[in-house]
Amino acid sequence: MEVVINEGCISCGMCTEICPEEFEFGPEGTAVPINNPVPDDLEAGTVEAAEACPVSVIEVEE
Ligand code: SF4
Repeated sequence: MEVVINEGCISCGMCTEICPEEFEFGPEGTAVPINNPVPDDLEAGTVEAAEACPVSVIEVEE
């Protein structure tokens, strides 16, 4: 699984809270993925974060 964060992140901290092993804040203050492809044990958390993102900018691709 690959994860992409599109433009429009409002830095709410939801994804970094739900799955801190996969999402962190980058130098621009917006969320960035830590691992790509996403390790198997982080897939569930990554999907959960994508669904929880209030501006729906996290995309997961098989
Ligand atoms: S949940 Fe969405 S808006 Fe919030 S920090 Fe993550 S990518 Fe940005």
